[in-house]
Amino acid sequence: MAAQRKAVALISGGLDSMLAARMMLDQGIHVEGITFFTGFCTDGLHHMSGVYRDNTPTRNHAFWVAEQLGIEHHIINIVDEYKDIVLNPKHGYGANLNPCLDCKIFMVGKAQEWIREHGFDFIVTGEVIGQRPKSQRKETMPIIARESGADDLLLRPLSALNLPPTLPEREGWVDRDKLLGLSGRSRKPQMALAAQYGITEYAQPAGGCCVLTDENYTHKLQDFWTHRGKRDYEFDDILLLNMGRHLRPNNRFKLIVSREESETRYMEGYRKSFHHIKTVSHPGPITLIDGDDLTPDDWKLAAAVTARFSKGRDAAEVEVRMVPKGGEAELIRITPLKPEEVLKSWYL
Ligand code: SF4
Repeated sequence: MAAQRKAVALISGGLDSMLAARMMLDQGIHVEGITFFTGFCTDGLHHMSGVYRDNTPTRNHAFWVAEQLGIEHHIINIVDEYKDIVLNPKHGYGANLNPCLDCKIFMVGKAQEWIREHGFDFIVTGEVIGQRPKSQRKETMPIIARESGADDLLLRPLSALNLPPTLPEREGWVDRDKLLGLSGRSRKPQMALAAQYGITEYAQPAGGCCVLTDENYTHKLQDFWTHRGKRDYEFDDILLLNMGRHLRPNNRFKLIVSREESETRYMEGYRKSFHHIKTVSHPGPITLIDGDDLTPDDWKLAAAVTARFSKGRDAAEVEVRMVPKGGEAELIRITPLKPEEVLKSWYL
């Protein structure tokens, strides 16, 4: 009897990769899932930090998909290596700072290393030709296969009939007749296939949780680079860009004001790396101050903004503790800003 073939499926948490993996399981392939932790996926960041909007835990879609499929799931941290993809994408960016084509090439390349090290036979992705304008086009499919080094060990079960047969198909490990020839942006065929499999719950529209595709996040990242004077980041930087309200009242400093309890707790871990302000007389946020050359008026403004977002927002005065990085704390009483005094133009 022929040995059971083994494939690794790139699991994004969306429906397409779930279906692709499921199709392979149906063909008797041993499938395990891989999800890469880039530092830019909100599901991964929530899971890692324990911080959720409105303090309401949300599903980690990739974990959930793997659980539904009943497959082993591997999370691979690529935060450091991924930096070069974000900073210097050979194929450029999409609509925002999303280097999708380079990202896919990199991830498939990492999967290729993984299958070599773990004795697996091929790689499966949920890519569909024409689904995404930048990275999922007919022309980009061979580029991903070639530049990742995976070549014909990369199988896209949902679009396979639109592509040349891969090694798993030619060798008969996978029955090509049972693969699909989907193309285009419509989600209807995937939804129909999900219904056939009895899959009724899945992330909409495709499970994308990557903040690099988000205009607002891109704006914050660009602002961060501009004020640091270089295009670079550490993991903590990109994590904080995804947390709190970001306000830049002037070029000397930016405020990161926590929005809820879990953020406040988490951001307190950064007290030693930033100047910070905390309300004392009323429950309220922690504000991290990114900037070193603050004037006394800047400190007062930062304190008044912090008070504005505290439970003392309507009080005549709020007591706050202002703590310079590595310095002595100072307690002051401050009048909270009125809502209209927190200018829209400050928000990043
Ligand atoms: S959306 Fe983000 S994770 Fe997905 S391919 Fe693009 S850059 Fe990569």
